[in-house]
Formats: sequence, C-alpha cells, structure tokens
Amino acid sequence: MRLWDRLMCYCRKRSPWLFHLNSGSCNGCDIEIVAALAPRYDAEQLGVRIEGSPRHADILCVTGPVTKNAVCAIKTVYGQVCGPKAVVAIGSCPATTNVFIDSRTLDGPLGKHIPVDVFVPGCPPRPDAIIEGVAKAAEILAQRGSKPIEPVLTDEPANAEVQA
Ligand code: SF4
Repeated sequence: MRLWDRLMCYCRKRSPWLFHLNSGSCNGCDIEIVAALAPRYDAEQLGVRIEGSPRHADILCVTGPVTKNAVCAIKTVYGQVCGPKAVVAIGSCPATTNVFIDSRTLDGPLGKHIPVDVFVPGCPPRPDAIIEGVAKAAEILAQRGSKPIEPVLTDEPANAEVQA
C-alpha cells in the first residue's frame, strides 16, 4: 500500500465522519446518537463527527425500520457517500424491522437494499454501544484502503408512492 493510502486509512480510522439517515424511526435511536455526541459521551473528542452532507462522510448511520418511501432516499444517499464507505445499522429496527415487522408501509430490513457492515442492536441502543459500532465501522474502513466503491444507483423514481 502506498504511503498516501496508508495515511488516508489512518485518518479515516482515527476520525470517521458520519452521515445520519432516519428511515422512519420513532426517534428513540436518533436521540441516542445525539447523546453519543453530547458532552457526557463526547464521541467528538474521539474524532467522530456528524456531517451535513453524505458526500463528506465516511460512514452512513441508518436508524428506523425502512419505510417504502425511504428506500429511494437510502439508495441515493448510499451512492453519494464517497468510497471507501461503511454502513452502521443503529437499533433493532434496521436489522429486523423490530416490532413493526408486519406493517404494510415497510420495506425492511435495511440489508435488503444496501450492504450493512455493523449492526448495533437495542431498542434503542445505548450511546456507548453506538460509539463502539462506529469504531468497528472505522476499523472496517481502514481495512478497505482507499479504493472507491461503486455507487448503488436508485432504481425507483424519487417520488415513488407507498403501495397500500
Ligand atoms: S429500534 Fe426501537 S428506539 Fe430505535 S427506532 Fe426502532 S423502535 Fe425506535
């Protein structure tokens, strides 16, 4: 591996930038992400920070059970994160659709639509579990090196309607 690639891997591992995507959660997991970044757990002190644009992020953090309306946005945002990238599913909802499993408005779990690298179980997971999941994703990123990953293109129109 070239020196530049090694440097990039080191930086990603030491300071991963996140993009948070809510795919229809009850906001329980989202509050715990905020708590992980707030002064008590202070993930920012470890180099973790939330980015406003997926194009600037290394790790995509997804909460929620994946509603049909959210599928197109998930694929679009996943494609906008520059490679190498990792995906963290936060909470039991993106992993299994949780208590909403029989809902007709869902098209989960998340793994049906994009590759997921780390699952953080819990309803909601604790902030320290979220930080651990992000740290694991950062390790995975460092192992992936600096090769870009092909983006996943959306296969649905942006204004796709929810099927009853
Ligand atoms: S895992 Fe629990 S807390 Fe998180 S979005 Fe689902 S129902 Fe809400």
